[in-house]
Formats: sequence, C-alpha cells, structure tokens
Amino acid sequence: MSVGAVIVAAGRGTRAGGGSPKQWRPLAGGTVASHTLAAFTSHPKIGQIALVLHTDDIEATLWPADTQAEIVTGGDTRSASVRAGLAALEGRFDHVLIHDVARPLITHAVIDRVLTALESSDAAAPAIPVTDALWRGENDIVTGTEDRTGLFRAQTPQGFDLAKIIAAHNTANTNAADDVEIARLAGLDVAIVEGDPNNLKITGPDDFARAERLLNERSPGPMDIRVGNGFDVHRFGPGDHVILCGVTIPHTRGLQGHSDADVGLHTITDAIYGALSEGDIGRHFPPSDPQWKGAASEIFLAHATGLAASKGFKISNIDCTLICEFPKIGPHAAAMITEVARITETNQNRISVKATTSEQLGFTGRGEGIACMATVTLIAQ
Ligand code: MG
Repeated sequence: MSVGAVIVAAGRGTRAGGGSPKQWRPLAGGTVASHTLAAFTSHPKIGQIALVLHTDDIEATLWPADTQAEIVTGGDTRSASVRAGLAALEGRFDHVLIHDVARPLITHAVIDRVLTALESSDAAAPAIPVTDALWRGENDIVTGTEDRTGLFRAQTPQGFDLAKIIAAHNTANTNAADDVEIARLAGLDVAIVEGDPNNLKITGPDDFARAERLLNERSPGPMDIRVGNGFDVHRFGPGDHVILCGVTIPHTRGLQGHSDADVGLHTITDAIYGALSEGDIGRHFPPSDPQWKGAASEIFLAHATGLAASKGFKISNIDCTLICEFPKIGPHAAAMITEVARITETNQNRISVKATTSEQLGFTGRGEGIACMATVTLIAQ
C-alpha cells in the first residue's frame, strides 16, 4: 500500500484567539501546524504530504521552514482545498489520508488503525462513541433528550482509496462537512476505527490549554535520530606541518590535497553529510572549482553544520579517530576538540578526537599518509 496525506491548513479560523489563524499559533514549543506535520512526516508509511495553505499564508511563509511537505494552494471552501491537495497526489499513491491541521495530537496508533482498515475497505475513519447523554435545549432549558445509540464523534485522518475519493469529490459538487460525507454520497462504505479521545480539534482558547498540557505530558514520541559515518585519506608530501581537526602541527612532511588537506575535518564533514543523506564534500565543494584550492576546511564543516540546522537537526555527538604513526596526536587532541566544538557550535563534552596507529602495517603504518574515520549523531530539534 502506498499512502500520501493531505493536511488541510487553509482555514482562517481565529475563534481560538490570538489574531492569526489558529494553525500558526504557538503550541508546546512549536505551532499547531508543526505538531500536526511532525506526526505525519515521522510516520514510516506516509510517502508524501500535501500541505494545503491559504494564498496569504504561502506568501507569509508561515509553515515550518524544514517541512518536507509539498505546498499546495487551497480553495475558497474546505472541499475545494481538499480537492487541490488530492490533485497534487493523484496517480502517485493508491491511498490517501485527509487530516485537519487543527488536530495536532494525532498519534501513529490512530493513523495505523486507519491504514489497517484501508486494507479491506475503500474508506476508513476514526471516531469516538458518544457516551454522554444528549439533550435538546432552548433558552438554557432542556426541551428533550436524544438517543445516543449508534452515535459517534468523527475525527481525522480520514483514509480513502485515492482514485475513488477523487472521483467522489469530482461528482459530489457540494461543500460537505467532511470527506466521509463525500465518500458516502458516492456510495463508498466507510469503516469506523477506534479514535483517540485526546485527538482533539482545536477550536477555542480552552482547546489550546488542553492541547498544550497533553503535548507536554506526552512521553517523547519517535525521535528522529540520524547517524552518519565518514572516512578519508590524505597522502604525505613535501612540507613542514599538517593541519588536523583545525590544529596546525609542525611535522617533517605535509599532507597533499586540493584544500588545506585537513583529513580530520573532511571526515567529520562527510559524516554529517552522510547522516543527512546529502552526499559528500565533493558534491557541495567540487574539487574542480578553483575557489576551494587551499581553502580552510573549516568552511566545509561549517557548511555541513548549517545544512543540518536548516533541516532541523542538531549535532548530538561526534567521534573522530585519526589513524597514523606520526605526528603524535595525543598532545593536540584537546585543542582539536576545542576547534571542532567551535566550528560545529557543539559542546566540547560531545566531541571526541582520538588516534590510533595501524601497528606499522599498511599505508598509514608505512607513513605514506593519514587516514581518518568519524561517526556523527544528529537529533531532530
Ligand atoms: Mg579529504
């Protein structure tokens, strides 16, 4: 099953207070929209998100900068916005989840229940059975009671066979309350799956307070942790010093390379690019480009660090091992750690620079060059 998601965020709802549409208001360290997006981007079965926005919001670039969602311009009504989102995913997936951005407490458990039901049904949606007594009232006086048997409170995400819900929307031509109604008008059976009482829809100021409390109480969700490795070698040549992890060390030889040949910083840089699935130094700083000749490798590492930050990651730790017989690294390791910490804006106690010889074996053992390996861990902020 391939699944895309449409997150409808084109509403202008300001009933929740704060002046701006509720999806952009701060909530538990992010915004309503950022929490909603995070739940979907971190779900392993969702291949693409179409984030449907109001034109004004697209210009204001209010959505999270690092979102991997595809930005889609919404329409005048909710249905028109959903149709725009569906059109963006058409033909690329066989199923779709349609979710209201104002439900930031959506969990993977609810998403999974909808997806499981879609294996045997054209449509499925979460809901909560009504357990409170239902009254009719007028002028603050109870005028009657309603039988609650068989009544449910509808939630999102609502899941569908993508082609069938597109066809349903194209023929419905109505501004229905939700997509389940559109599906039913088209004759689709909609399976009910268990919703989550905490999957609330933020409407008024009280909902903000409750959502904030629930998000803060939540045990940490699935953390996005990335590990990258790097390996590099530079050959010895004529010279009187080497630069390793940003530190100049007098030596009887120098390291050869297009830049300053700092094999330590190159390796750490490649490990960060690796963790980000962003290739290697050569991709970002082609050796064919003369402007990097003799360049301080600090530039490369700062770029990789900045790229990680722009994608929402911070460096958790760096472990770097230099492999050589000479020069001796031990006396310089503390200075190297200080340099790497400075360039990566990471606390020194999260940086390790150590060294090993190769017992006089191989090219490092024969003193032909220096090798380096590094591991980096990145954590989504
Ligand atoms: Mg290199």
